[in-house]
Amino acid sequence: MPSVAVAVETPRHSSVSGLLDYASEQTLPPGTLLRVPLGRRDVPGLVWERRADAPPPPAELRPVTLALTALPPLGADWRALVDFAAAYYQRGVGELALAVLPPELRKLDDTQLARRLKRLASLQAPPAAAEPPRPELSEEQAAALDVLATPGVASRPVLLHGVTGSGKTEVYLRAAAAALARGEQALVLVPEINLTPQLEARFAERFPGRLLVSLHSALTPAQRLRNWLLAHLGRADLVLGTRLAVFASMPRLGLIVVDEEHDPSFKQQEGARYSARDLAVWRGHHAGVPVLLGSATPSLETWQRVQEGRYLRLPMTQRIGGGAMPRVRLVDMNLLPKTNEERVLAPPLLAAIEERIARGEQSLLLLNRRGYAPVLHCGACAWKSGCPHCSAWRVFHKLDRTLKCHHCGLSERVPRACPDCGNLDISPIGRGTEKLQEQLAQLLPQARIGRLDADSTRGEGQLQQQLQAVHAGDVDVLVGTQMLAKGHDFRRVTLVAAVNPDGALFTSDFRAPERLFALLMQAAGRAGRDAAQAARSEMWIQTWHPTHPIFTALRAHDYAAFAAAQLAERQAAGLPPFASLALLRADARSAEVAAGFLHEASALAQAYAGVTVFPPVPPFVSKVADVERMQMLVESPSRVTLQRMLAAWLPELNAVRSRHKGLLRWAVDIDPLAI
Ligand code: ADP
Ligand code: ZN
Ligand code: ZN
Repeated sequence: MPSVAVAVETPRHSSVSGLLDYASEQTLPPGTLLRVPLGRRDVPGLVWERRADAPPPPAELRPVTLALTALPPLGADWRALVDFAAAYYQRGVGELALAVLPPELRKLDDTQLARRLKRLASLQAPPAAAEPPRPELSEEQAAALDVLATPGVASRPVLLHGVTGSGKTEVYLRAAAAALARGEQALVLVPEINLTPQLEARFAERFPGRLLVSLHSALTPAQRLRNWLLAHLGRADLVLGTRLAVFASMPRLGLIVVDEEHDPSFKQQEGARYSARDLAVWRGHHAGVPVLLGSATPSLETWQRVQEGRYLRLPMTQRIGGGAMPRVRLVDMNLLPKTNEERVLAPPLLAAIEERIARGEQSLLLLNRRGYAPVLHCGACAWKSGCPHCSAWRVFHKLDRTLKCHHCGLSERVPRACPDCGNLDISPIGRGTEKLQEQLAQLLPQARIGRLDADSTRGEGQLQQQLQAVHAGDVDVLVGTQMLAKGHDFRRVTLVAAVNPDGALFTSDFRAPERLFALLMQAAGRAGRDAAQAARSEMWIQTWHPTHPIFTALRAHDYAAFAAAQLAERQAAGLPPFASLALLRADARSAEVAAGFLHEASALAQAYAGVTVFPPVPPFVSKVADVERMQMLVESPSRVTLQRMLAAWLPELNAVRSRHKGLLRWAVDIDPLAI
């Protein structure tokens, strides 16, 4: 009987790895979804090309349980993407492939699937309304689109480096229109789709009569399956999604856009820790499809590739309507007169906000910490609201009177008295968004003060409701976390303030300055989006370190200078993008066990040349939900050397693992973002 090689969902480093062989009476082409027996269970799998160097399959094979032949097989480009991603991120092919397919697929049998496909095939595209008027392009938009339309230009990824408000979205829309006109599909990746319903609406409005689908984790399983199928069948012309959409199967793919390409949320943080941005670049290159990366503050990796000529940069330096960039004003907190009371906002900043309120304009206050206060404290015995299961404080949420751990989720009612000594006088230390909102309500009794953070937007539709209130002018001052900074096109905001950004200046993570700079630039970009008000728009920063180079660059809106300084530091320190990193993580009930595993792994690593293995260290939050975590960095100046080393070294760690009782899991993170 003929046989097929099948990728099943076993991790690469488990005892069963690679492809398994099964007998099949039917010839099943690669990319066919099926179910096969594994041990005593039936598991989903995908027919895959047998590797050229694989030994011939044994004569006795178990038969395939079920082949889902109603579904057109996943194409060669898609399989190539999965093969690459699995190899690069050191995962099993089947593990990765099945993790990125809609989970519903594995629940259906062939008949059910055929029925769905039939229903989708008869789906009508929305009726073609009149083409909406398209705005006249700015000179810079037109220039960028001219270059994009030049034959051959798409052989390199293109960085659309446009300041906030320069109209990058219009460039995406036109580039997508061109792809659609060629009969191709366009894939648009955004960092957080729930924060950008505006984008979805703009695409839907621009392309009446075209089928647009979204792919993100907030969809119901049935919606996700439907949308994925429409993309896979080639019915959907536009796919808009978050990082998981980079794996959408699109047989007519003709354009990939990655908006806010620098955003950390393009990196998956569990399982196969892939970078959707990097995979988008690979996918575009492999399929010969143009890739457009958009940002006002590109990642330093992307910027370095521009410097090397590997990516093409298309600049857009002017805001639409010619409005000025907001003036950046630093408040030197050292110079404020001392008071005994807690200082909420510096007096000149408060006055500037009051001016806005009087003029009917809006202000945004950025404070990257949710809850009321990061910790509760007893003055009598020094008790603090630590989490019993994590090496972290539990955050005081005043609105629902709880102490919440933001790491393990533990939530308890606030104790009435100190749990250690019974003292009734326990008090919050520090300040989160809830407290800032409360304080502002006292300082500005006439103002309407809103709050936008993960807590205020948890309920169904709450986020849209709150954004709508801001757009409608029902809010004078909006307090919030970094959610505030992302992409919103608020037209009445003329003041943005970072209330306390200093915390990010001195962390040990070498990417912290890059991230802070991007966040502040993006936040600043929320002010003065209406050109008529741009001239009086301001970005305020309260800091104890006003001479820090980040703020100097921010003041000049000088991304290039900031990037050059950062890249020089990275080069001197041998850090990305001048070196490649992998982070080996180990979780155990005790830190000793986790470290023991990493030490032995480190000893084995000494056999490989060209890599440096650093000593195991605990991450910033070392214990989460009673699990102790340790990590170990592996670095090489050469990506290829590191990849080869990992491919040989990681499989050795399975044997190591069995010698460390109590080790819960280990995993590797390639190109880690947080260290
Ligand atoms: P960015 O993403 O670069 O920050 P947007 O794409 O959000 O900027 O554009 C900013 C604003 O300018 C939006 O309200 C958009 O509708 C408008 N806009 C973009 N291009 C044009 C144009 N050519 N003419 C008029 N308005 C435009
Ligand atoms: Zn006490
Ligand atoms: Zn906890």
